[in-house]
Amino acid sequence: MKIGINYKEKNAIVADIIVDEALKNGFELDDDNPDVVFSVGGDGTFLKTVHKYIDKLDKILFVGINSGSLGFFYEFSKEDISLIFERLANKSYKIKEHALLKCVATYKNSKEEIFALNEIRMENPFHTLIADVFINGEELETFRGNGLIVSSTSGSSAYNKSLGGALIDHDIDALELTEVAGISNNVYRSLGSSLVIKGDKKISLSCKDSNAVVGYDHLNIKKDDELLKLDVCYSERKVKIIYSEDHSYVQKIRKSFVL
Ligand code: NAD
Repeated sequence: MKIGINYKEKNAIVADIIVDEALKNGFELDDDNPDVVFSVGGDGTFLKTVHKYIDKLDKILFVGINSGSLGFFYEFSKEDISLIFERLANKSYKIKEHALLKCVATYKNSKEEIFALNEIRMENPFHTLIADVFINGEELETFRGNGLIVSSTSGSSAYNKSLGGALIDHDIDALELTEVAGISNNVYRSLGSSLVIKGDKKISLSCKDSNAVVGYDHLNIKKDDELLKLDVCYSERKVKIIYSEDHSYVQKIRKSFVL
């Protein structure tokens, strides 16, 4: 089994422990073609780790080693590293799959296909964004405000939560559409709440704003072209994460947001 490690320099000591344990247990180190990737840090590092291997996700298992910052995708700390290698050697671990969102962004002169673990965002922080919203081709509304995000269940605890969207248990098959400062007055009105729909649907945002930008996870599309439309649905791609035996979604929420 080949091991890859992704970490920020400040977590180099933890990365060294992983290297030592890997070699001690007869594993190879290979950041280019790993079977198992250790991500050391917080959620931001985990997103970067996933995007580094975005075209190889079907072949890789991810392990999150939390370094102290908020780690929604993390189950382990550095004290658990030798136990994880024991479990890898015995092939006795619990995996949870997190489906990625797929978004086709149509511009006036081109198209982009992107994937996201947390969310896809259409935003204009400076002027009113106007976008027609469709669900499986059926018109829902014309939205006016700062933006709209389409969140996965994995991302429901991220930006979506800060915008007042619902936390959704990762085991539920759902997509969530959440407004960023929707305008609601006597002239314009949008839904005004998050909308949770079944995960097999497609949300399309038809943009009527030449300055709208597209963000996804920690990334954004940089393009000198006019955005026309986003089509967002779940993809076939899944992030496979090794979880601890006693994983509990309720405890994760409690530790992250309540205590
Ligand atoms: P970042 O990496 O600094 O992350 C911002 C915060 O979001 C951190 O506290 C991180 O722990 C948390 N986070 C990320 N994914 C999470 C998840 N699935 N569940 C719970 N918390 C999560 O910021 P960045 O690199 O600019 O963007 C990465 C992600 O951060 C985005 O996908 C977005 O969801 C989130 N974000 C949140 C806000 C906000 O809450 N106001 C603003 C920007 C970005």
